[in-house]
Amino acid sequence: MKYSYLFGPVPSRRLGISLGVDLVPFKTCTLDCIYCECGETTLLSNERKEYVPATAVIKELEGYLQGLPDLDYITFSGSGEPTLNSGIGDIADYIKTAYPQYKLCLLTNGTLFTEKEVRESVKQIDMIIPSLDAASEACFKAINRPYKNIHCGEVISGLIELRKDYRGTMMIEIFIVPGLNDNEDELRLIKNALADVNPDRVQIGTLDRPGTETWVEAADDVKLQEIANYLGQAELIGEFMERDKIASFNSSLFEQIVETISRRPCTVKDLIQVTGRHQAEIEKYIQNLLSKNIIEVDRLARGTFFKIKKKS
Ligand code: SF4
Repeated sequence: MKYSYLFGPVPSRRLGISLGVDLVPFKTCTLDCIYCECGETTLLSNERKEYVPATAVIKELEGYLQGLPDLDYITFSGSGEPTLNSGIGDIADYIKTAYPQYKLCLLTNGTLFTEKEVRESVKQIDMIIPSLDAASEACFKAINRPYKNIHCGEVISGLIELRKDYRGTMMIEIFIVPGLNDNEDELRLIKNALADVNPDRVQIGTLDRPGTETWVEAADDVKLQEIANYLGQAELIGEFMERDKIASFNSSLFEQIVETISRRPCTVKDLIQVTGRHQAEIEKYIQNLLSKNIIEVDRLARGTFFKIKKKS
């Protein structure tokens, strides 16, 4: 069966075997982050609606889950901000009622938790991973480029409100952009915000595949560790399980991608066309190939291409 809203399961370093559920069309988000690995936001909005119908997503889930696949998580993620879809609560309710054995995860930018209705709709989700890259308005605007009426202080207040009633695990993710949020002032504000929100865990990451803006660079491991120590209790995302050691790692898809790139440099779009897989799934394998130095990035005016890395 061909799925429109489900993808994977993808081998996730943090979540193990994770079935992706994409609730918005590419690329619909409340933010347009400079580091976004999906590319530029084409629909920047805070309007909540059924961007894709909840009934259609539930139908696909019904078909997929009746085989009782081995999954660590069913994860709302993909082509933008999942909480923009006003049907997210109904979809989570369906899974928790029909298949209570599966754990749910939400990857979110956290901007809509200012709304009570959104907080209510995610309360049955087992793990929520909101990002928090900045705690000052200037830095938030520089990194996350929000929709016009979204403000940093309100986003932090929304996270505080969520934490008050939410009984699952909240893991804040901070993406470090050298030159923007790695300075003492911003980190102090982030640390204060974390103390107010009181998440269960904090993870720190940086660029590991090309972002929307070509000038964004990765922070080095020493700097990341320094920041983790300063924030206290923070973990580095890279410390998690190697992707190809995870059961859902698809070696034939991995080989198909390598084989395709060996013939000619490809963009993510080319690879989606050749493999018929979801963008988020392709991105995971690209990340794995980059980390193993099998491929490299070639940025051309026509787009970001991946090619086999020449042996030196
Ligand atoms: S919030 Fe996530 S999906 Fe949206 S622009 Fe930022 S990184 Fe991309």
